[in-house]
Amino acid sequence: MIRFATMLAFSALGLAPAPAQPAPAGPAKAEPETGKHAPRAQVKLLENIGSPFQVYLAGESSGTTFSDANCYLVCDRTSGEAMVIDAGTRSAPLVLKQAAELGVRITLLVSTHFHGDHTGGNALILEKTPAKMVAPAKEAALIAGDGLNAGEKKQLLIYPTPRIDIKAAQGDELKFRGGPVKVIEIGGHSPGGICLFFGAQKLLFAGDALLKGTVARVGIPRAAKTVDPMVSAIRSRLLVLSDDTVVLPGHGPTTTIGAERAANPWLQAPAKTSKSMVAGKTAEKK
Ligand SMILES: [Zn+2]
Repeated sequence: MIRFATMLAFSALGLAPAPAQPAPAGPAKAEPETGKHAPRAQVKLLENIGSPFQVYLAGESSGTTFSDANCYLVCDRTSGEAMVIDAGTRSAPLVLKQAAELGVRITLLVSTHFHGDHTGGNALILEKTPAKMVAPAKEAALIAGDGLNAGEKKQLLIYPTPRIDIKAAQGDELKFRGGPVKVIEIGGHSPGGICLFFGAQKLLFAGDALLKGTVARVGIPRAAKTVDPMVSAIRSRLLVLSDDTVVLPGHGPTTTIGAERAANPWLQAPAKTSKSMVAGKTAEKK
């Protein structure tokens, strides 16, 4: 029951409600996790995304109450290397199993930010694989569970990550299959969350910063009080990418930079979204 209560609190962590929209985006309602309607954890191949890599999604499906964020497994079957992004407690065993079936070795494990739905599976993956742990430089202590009070740990469902091998900050590059993966830092939802951009494949793993039709919540512990700085960073660092860049977000369905540029209400002209700055604050009270 306690666990369920914390999951209820957490299910509202990821997304900000769209400004001036009647219905907030994201998993706002939680249902009991037992019984025939219980959400099912699963792994699926994202067809036609990321070639020559194969990208698998494990975890949350849009509209379910699955408590993990989207977890991605990026496989290069030529070299046998794989990368995991945002391993939750339930998705971690799934991606381990999938990697074993494919015969790939997880060499990099990345958490886009320190929230428990993006980090809860880190300990398991680090125990079972030779992966190097990559974490946002500004959140290294938080991911280790340090410096947070009991209330913050409960609300953010902190599962301490046992070690960090690479602290990643804006402009850094990770090497995957010998190629560069650019680190783009977008603070606001958390102090210094990171996105990963695979330039050759035009793939952006966006964490919670940019989601289909919305952006991440603010006004929660260790987050900014308003969305202004985050939206500004999204404009200057993500909207500079080409329209056909595929965005793989931390929650909800896949989208593109072009679709979000055209229709995401948080990213329209400032005059239209000035009231949005209080919308995130409303969500904070849920
Ligand atoms: Zn988050």
